[in-house]
Amino acid sequence: MKRLIFAANWKMHLGPEAARGYMETFLARVPLLDDREAWFFPAAVALHAVAEAARGRGDLAVGAQNVHWEEKGAFTGEVSAPMILDAGATAALVGHSERRHVFGETDAETGRKVRSLLAHGLTPVLCVGEKLEQREAGVTLSVVGRHLGVLEDLDARALAKVVIAYEPVWAIGTGKTATPADAVEVHAFIRDFMGREGADPGQTRILYGGSVKPDNIADLVGESEIDGVLVGGASLDPVTWGTMVQTPLD
Ligand code: PEP
Repeated sequence: MKRLIFAANWKMHLGPEAARGYMETFLARVPLLDDREAWFFPAAVALHAVAEAARGRGDLAVGAQNVHWEEKGAFTGEVSAPMILDAGATAALVGHSERRHVFGETDAETGRKVRSLLAHGLTPVLCVGEKLEQREAGVTLSVVGRHLGVLEDLDARALAKVVIAYEPVWAIGTGKTATPADAVEVHAFIRDFMGREGADPGQTRILYGGSVKPDNIADLVGESEIDGVLVGGASLDPVTWGTMVQTPLD
């Protein structure tokens, strides 16, 4: 059975000391989760601290927010897949909308990152999603299809490892959330794409992200098409996040 994933993207917040304090509060409030997992994406400098805090809890995982596709070399400011693995990560976000639209990352670069992570046994969480003008122009599914295109030549084993996060850009950090019906439509499209590529669509994990908050999380994770959430702002407080992670399921 698929376990829901509650993923926290801390963005450029919480250094190692603050991350340790956060994890202490979170762990005190969240006992072992048996039907879901909580994943944390701290800044690279806090990866090791969070991985140490989560050690021994099989329901928790830690990932990087970004990774370079090369293993090592003259790439000032970058971190590689073997480096995050060494720090305790088991996953990394790839193609987050802030990477695409603030830092100009291309689909080609995103594809190389996915492959580097897979080559090191790490889980890529591939973020896909349309901008507001693209939704209004009715091209949401073709944009999402293009983002997914980086997976096209992967075999079924590799595809089984990939997690997809559907994050409409207009809903990230804006307080606007896609309705569960909007999200379900795109999730179904993604699941269909994965099936056509050779993955087991029923086993593919597809998260929704974009202004998920305590007051809308239950409706989103209550949809069978939605296998979890990727949350930025509302995950920064360990008490709020501890409550969100324990959202009752019907
Ligand atoms: C995100 O950063 O992936 C995100 C969804 O942010 P927020 O929850 O703040 O919209």
